[in-house]
Amino acid sequence: MVRRAPGYPAVMSEERPGAAEWVPERLSLTALREAVQDCRGCELYRDATQGVMGAGRRTARLMVLGEQPGDHEDQEGEPFVGPAGKVLDRALADAGIDPDDVFRTNVVKHFRWSGTRGKQRLHKSPSRAQVAACAPWLAAELQLIRPTGVVLLGGTAGKAVYGSSFTVGDTRGRLATWPDDFVVGRPPAWVLATTHPSAVLRADDRQAAYEDLVADLAVAARELG
Ligand code: SF4
Repeated sequence: MVRRAPGYPAVMSEERPGAAEWVPERLSLTALREAVQDCRGCELYRDATQGVMGAGRRTARLMVLGEQPGDHEDQEGEPFVGPAGKVLDRALADAGIDPDDVFRTNVVKHFRWSGTRGKQRLHKSPSRAQVAACAPWLAAELQLIRPTGVVLLGGTAGKAVYGSSFTVGDTRGRLATWPDDFVVGRPPAWVLATTHPSAVLRADDRQAAYEDLVADLAVAARELG
């Protein structure tokens, strides 16, 4: 079981006690999805529609780890169903990864947003303290899925695993080991960082950014065999 996220020590407070007490002892995907709706581990539940746990098969060999649910995900209760998720799905397919072999999740389970543009609520990245508070849910997912490999999508996911000095640019597309100080029952055999698919949508040259994403995911595809 994950005990903490290195670099993101959980700073407990009355308002932000951390998610541990809401994580069920008997782990199943259904139990996690139900239990996260009651979580008051940090303040993010207040402005979100619902908690969004990961989705995929329990037997998936690859965990894809993003930042947090977005506007669409918050409304539908499923991860990666918005525009960035569609980019991810296409990139996974182009990299040759079987979608049934992927468990998609985020380091934070409630949508953080600030302000609106039209009807759309605008994403705001979770704070380090919120990521740390939410870590027990990721711990539970890792315990349940026991993936062979983990793909980190973007800086927030990378920092949640490796600490605050992590940057995608230094590491993307290269296989790394799971950090020793992030204690899990059965650590993934490898980790691979790449950009978040939302960055592809924001890039000046979307095609080039997309091809870079696919090239990184192809490294994961080769490892999966
Ligand atoms: S973001 Fe995580 S810790 Fe905060 S309330 Fe939601 S599930 Fe709980």
